[in-house]
Amino acid sequence: MRITIIGYGMAGARLATLLAKDHQVTVYGAENHPAYNRILLSGLLAGAYQETDLALPPANVDLRLGVAATDIDRVARTVHGEPYDALVFATGSRAIIPPVKGLTGDDGEPHPNVAAFRTLDDCRRILAATGSHPVVLGGGLLGVEAARGLAGRGPVTLVHGAPHLLERQLDAVGGAVLADTLAAIGITVRVNAQAVAYVDGVLRLADGTELPADPLVVSCGVRAETTLAESIGLAVGRGVLVDDELRASDPAIYAIGDCAQHRGAVYGLVAPAWEQAAVLAEVLSGAAALRYTGSRLVTRLKAAGIDLAAMGDLDGEEIVSFADPSRGTYARLAITAGRLRGAILLGDNPTVGTVTQLFDRRTPVPADRRSLLLGRMSAALPAETPALMPDAAVVCRCNTVTKGEIVRCGGRSVPQIAQRTNATTGCGGCADAVRGIADWLSTVDPVMEEVWP
Ligand SMILES: Cc1cc2nc3c(=O)[nH]c(=O)nc-3n(C[C@H](O)[C@H](O)[C@H](O)COP(=O)(O)OP(=O)(O)OC[C@H]3O[C@@H](n4cnc5c(N)ncnc54)[C@H](O)[C@@H]3O)c2cc1C
Repeated sequence: MRITIIGYGMAGARLATLLAKDHQVTVYGAENHPAYNRILLSGLLAGAYQETDLALPPANVDLRLGVAATDIDRVARTVHGEPYDALVFATGSRAIIPPVKGLTGDDGEPHPNVAAFRTLDDCRRILAATGSHPVVLGGGLLGVEAARGLAGRGPVTLVHGAPHLLERQLDAVGGAVLADTLAAIGITVRVNAQAVAYVDGVLRLADGTELPADPLVVSCGVRAETTLAESIGLAVGRGVLVDDELRASDPAIYAIGDCAQHRGAVYGLVAPAWEQAAVLAEVLSGAAALRYTGSRLVTRLKAAGIDLAAMGDLDGEEIVSFADPSRGTYARLAITAGRLRGAILLGDNPTVGTVTQLFDRRTPVPADRRSLLLGRMSAALPAETPALMPDAAVVCRCNTVTKGEIVRCGGRSVPQIAQRTNATTGCGGCADAVRGIADWLSTVDPVMEEVWP
C-alpha cells in the first residue's frame, strides 16, 4: 500500500516506523531535523539532555525532510503530484502567540528576544539568548517546565494571567503550594497578571508593572495544526475530525496525534498520539479489527525537584485533601461512588503509584482514605513493590506498557526492556519503576535472559 504521512513529529515518526516494513511510505516533515522526542525539550532547556539524547529511531521510509506538504489533490489522491492509497495527517500543534503588542514583528514572526516553546529551533533560540532577565509568559505545564529549566541561569519570573498556576490541573490551594515551591528555587510567580505590551525588552503588565524580559519565553497554549486539512475541505472542529479507525471525513485520509479530534477530545499529549499511531498501523495493515476508543490521562510535571501528578476531574461526591505548604506537599482526591474520579498529588507523595492505579483501573478506594493521602498504606491497597504490582498496572504511561508486558518481553535491563516494549522512551519518568522491575526480575527469574537473542 502507498501511504503518505504529513508530519514527522512524535506521532508521524512512530507510525512511519510501524509501517515501514510492509508498506511503501513517504513522509513529509516541515522541520529541518530528523525525528526527535519533543517532550524532552524541557530537559534540553534545563541542561539535563543534549540534542543527541532526543533522537527518535529513524524510520526506513522515503523521507522529505524540511519539506512542508502543501499540494493535495483528493480526487486524484496525490500529494505534490505523487499518488497515495492512504494519506495520514500528523501535523501536530503550533504554539499560540497571544496578540500582545510587540511580541511579533510586522511579518508575524516573534521579536528577536521572544521565543515560543514548541520546537527544537525554539529551544536553540532560548538557549542562545544572552539576556539575564528570563521571563516565561504562561503558567501551564510547559510554562512551569520552561521556568524550571531556565532557573539554573538566575532569577526567573513566571507571569500567568489566571488566578493560580496550572488552573487546568490544580485547584487554588495546589496552585499556591506550587508557587511557593517555585519561589524556593528562584522563580517569582505573578498570577492574575495580564501582559499588555513588549517594548524595548520590557514586558508591560496591565497593572502598570514593567518587567525586564530577555529572553521572553511564550508558553500560552497550543492549537491543533489544521490549516492544510481545512484547505482541502476535510471536516475540522478543534482538530481534524476522526472516527474510531482514525479516519477523517474523506475515507482515504486519516489523522493522528495533536492535530486529530476524536470523540470531542484533542489530547495534545504523547500517550494518545502513540496509541493512535499503533491503532492506525493495524487499521492500515488490515491485520486486526482494532479500534481507538479514547485515552484516560494522567499528567506529570517533568521539572527537577517538583513532583506533580494530576488526573481526571477535581470534583466528586467526596473530596479528601491534605496540605502541608511548608513541605511543598498537597494532595486532593475526588471520589464518587467509592471510586476515584480524579486526584492531584503535589510534592513528595509515596502513594502516587497506588493512586494512579486506582484511577486507571477504576477499583474502589480503601475505606481509610487517609492512607492514600499520607502514605500510610492499609492492607487493602495494592503494594507498589514490583512483586505485588498487578500485571495490568501501567508502568510506562507514554507508551501504555504494563508490568505484565515488561515481564513477558524477556528483558532484564532497562535498555533491553526499552528496545522490546518502548517503555521509558517517552518522557522517561518511568525509568526508576522499570529499573525496579528489571532488578526484581533479574533476582527472581534470571534465566529468561538466556532465551532472548
Ligand atoms: C516542551 C514540550 C514538552 C512536552 N511534554 C510532554 C509530556 O511530558 N507528556 C506528554 O504527553 N506530552 C508532552 N508534550 C506534548 C507532545 O510533545 C505532543 O503531544 C506530541 O509531540 C504530539 O505529536 P504529534 O506528532 O501529533 O505532533 P508534533 O510532535 O508537533 O509533530 C508534528 C510535526 O508535523 C510537522 N508539520 C506540520 N504541518 C506540516 C506540513 N504541512 N508538512 C510537513 N510537516 C508538517 C510539524 O513541523 C511537526 O514537526 C510536550 C510538548 C512540548 C513542546
